[in-house]
Amino acid sequence: MTPQAKNTAPGTEAGSNPRAALWPNYKPPAELVFTHGIGSELFSEDGTSYLDFLSGIAVTSFGHAHPHLVNALTEQATKLWHTSNVFRIPAAERLAQRLVESSFADGVYFANSGTEAVEAGLKSIRAYQAVNKHPERYRIIGFEASFHGRTMASLAAAGNPAHMKNFVHGDYGFDQAQWDDIESVKSCIDENTAGIIIEPVQGEGGIRPASKEFLKALRELCDDHGLLLMFDEVQCGIGRSGKLFAHENYSLEPDVMAIAKGLGGGFPVGACLASEAVSSTMQLGSHGSTFGGNQLAMAVADAVLDLVLEPSLLKDVNNKAKFLVTELEALTKKYPQSISSVHGLGLMLGLKCVGENTKLLLKLREHGLLVGKSGDNMIRLLPPLNVSQIELERALDIIRTVLKNSEAN
Ligand SMILES: *Cc1c(COP(=O)(O)O)cnc(C)c1O
Repeated sequence: MTPQAKNTAPGTEAGSNPRAALWPNYKPPAELVFTHGIGSELFSEDGTSYLDFLSGIAVTSFGHAHPHLVNALTEQATKLWHTSNVFRIPAAERLAQRLVESSFADGVYFANSGTEAVEAGLKSIRAYQAVNKHPERYRIIGFEASFHGRTMASLAAAGNPAHMKNFVHGDYGFDQAQWDDIESVKSCIDENTAGIIIEPVQGEGGIRPASKEFLKALRELCDDHGLLLMFDEVQCGIGRSGKLFAHENYSLEPDVMAIAKGLGGGFPVGACLASEAVSSTMQLGSHGSTFGGNQLAMAVADAVLDLVLEPSLLKDVNNKAKFLVTELEALTKKYPQSISSVHGLGLMLGLKCVGENTKLLLKLREHGLLVGKSGDNMIRLLPPLNVSQIELERALDIIRTVLKNSEAN
């Protein structure tokens, strides 16, 4: 295309569509552009304040511009950003050690996003089986309504036909089982099965915590068949569920775990954690990332861990969650024509809508409360973990007002 043809292409004249140079794969609301944020509040261009109960999809878990995180980032920024894994990165060694001390894991790999952390974990499952003389075991079982990110393998693992269309051909070595149905998992297992990947609390699929019996049965099935169990805690990990990792609510451990979203508080970073038996099989040269674990990301993630590991933090998260759930459940009784039930764990909550969830989301936004959506017609509430009692009450007031207005109409 000549430059002239480009300039005259319909709808791309300067100013007519400010997003014309971006791929059209997102469709953000046109009226909202945020200029800054403080704590749980975001401010739009016209100065309007919004209460942010989406947290960039469970990412800004300590709100916006938290002083401890700002300090960590700016201090590191004046020293060193990146050297690559060609050199030792003591900050990555330290952060890995901290994650190991706080979890089931013995080894950590750093990535830049959730899907990369998942990808590393899926590879480690295959590496483990191959190194342990079972190269025929390569197939991995995922679950209906899961979400593991947008790389090819993550798409295949989640098996969402709408996301896979045009991109994933064949089954990529993945099988799909039904949620909470152990018989369907058993029927997927054969001599080629290597492991199982599951979100202990499904996020995108509809804020569905797995049942205790189901996760326990999966753990036993893996042990009986020599399979690895991988948890995708990209969304539910790092304090979101009321425990540091969501599986701690179930008193069992995975072999592999992906984390990301809350780990960087807004700085892109992911990690894959694994037991010694698994991490030792990711031998020299088996995997890598240019940016993964660089000095900037490590400095911020280390500061996030300071905040999450603060002794009172998780207790506070659980108290706030209990308050929020009690109040929301009361609202389901008062406004049964609008909302029917409350789901989730910790501060990862879903409000099941009777009418369309998008409609409720828009009304809440008009009233200054930002929330998300997820599968199964849910409104998704992901407030910062350090949200204040006053902010919780302000959010509840907005929800109450919106429900009252919509049932009055
Ligand atoms: C968001 C998410 C991912 C993907 O993370 P990205 O950083 O977008 O790649 C994977 N798994 C779960 C459970 C998620 O919620």
